Amino acid sequence: MPSGIYECISLIAERIADNKDFLTELDREIGDSDHGINMSRGFTAVMEKLSPDESDIGAVLKKTGMTLLSKVGGASGPLYGTAYMEAGKLTVGKTDITTEDMKSILEAAIAGIQKRGKAVKGEKTMLDSLIPASESFNKKIAEGADMVTGLEAACESAREGVEYTKTIIATKGRASYLGERSIGHQDPGATSALITLEAIRDCMKG
Ligand code: ADP
Ligand code: MG
Repeated sequence: MPSGIYECISLIAERIADNKDFLTELDREIGDSDHGINMSRGFTAVMEKLSPDESDIGAVLKKTGMTLLSKVGGASGPLYGTAYMEAGKLTVGKTDITTEDMKSILEAAIAGIQKRGKAVKGEKTMLDSLIPASESFNKKIAEGADMVTGLEAACESAREGVEYTKTIIATKGRASYLGERSIGHQDPGATSALITLEAIRDCMKG
């Protein structure tokens, strides 16, 4: 990995902080105006717990997940927390990852989110960017693509997934209370997931 896991999580934290107001504004439209606040509070706490010399990917991801679970109120804390914890279980002792590892990480993160939140694709959640991203990544690497090329494709599909959330009714989470009125608004969690994937892509570019 061109940058270490500490740099990767730092970049995610930075992008979340940069998009705090944007994510909160999206959540104001169909939720309770706290998604950006929740996510940036969580990643501020994560950065306080990590030290730059940590290189065990699994240990860092587990710490990230546990911190998000304990510090973030709202649906997104336990969901992202579980995703990072599940990814961490697959990467204990590793300081570098292959495309096969990344495939497993994305799949395990999604499985964790689904186990916890019981949502499927098409319910206007973070899964609507993550699932297409994971599928595109797998397709690309099966064709022999490298990590960055795979992640480029993943981000493109995640972006399409975010656009797709504007066209559908929320049936999970707070936005589901709005029913049809949720149409026309992009999902905050799908957006923070896209931001996360773009940070991972940029981190892998080095
Ligand atoms: P809350 O909705 O509790 O205020 P946040 O605002 O931080 O929490 O997060 C909202 C986001 O969480 C939504 O935009 C959606 O993407 C995601 N979300 C909510 N419920 C679920 C679920 N069951 N499965 C997956 N993602 C979910
Ligand atoms: Mg909210």
